[in-house]
Amino acid sequence: MKLREEGDELETRRAWLEELAENTICPVCGGEVLTVDDRGVCRLSCNVTAEHIRWP
Ligand SMILES: [Zn+2]
Repeated sequence: MKLREEGDELETRRAWLEELAENTICPVCGGEVLTVDDRGVCRLSCNVTAEHIRWP
């Protein structure tokens, strides 16, 4: 049951970040913000360069 719960939490986190990305623009260049998979962890990244945003 523990694994299942952790999976749901990851899905919730991913969905939340994807929604956040859709409603956010890059504070540096004003470009699109995307979600990226960083070694299994979903993060936000600028569409132009990952150097612009490192979050979370
Ligand atoms: Zn940018």
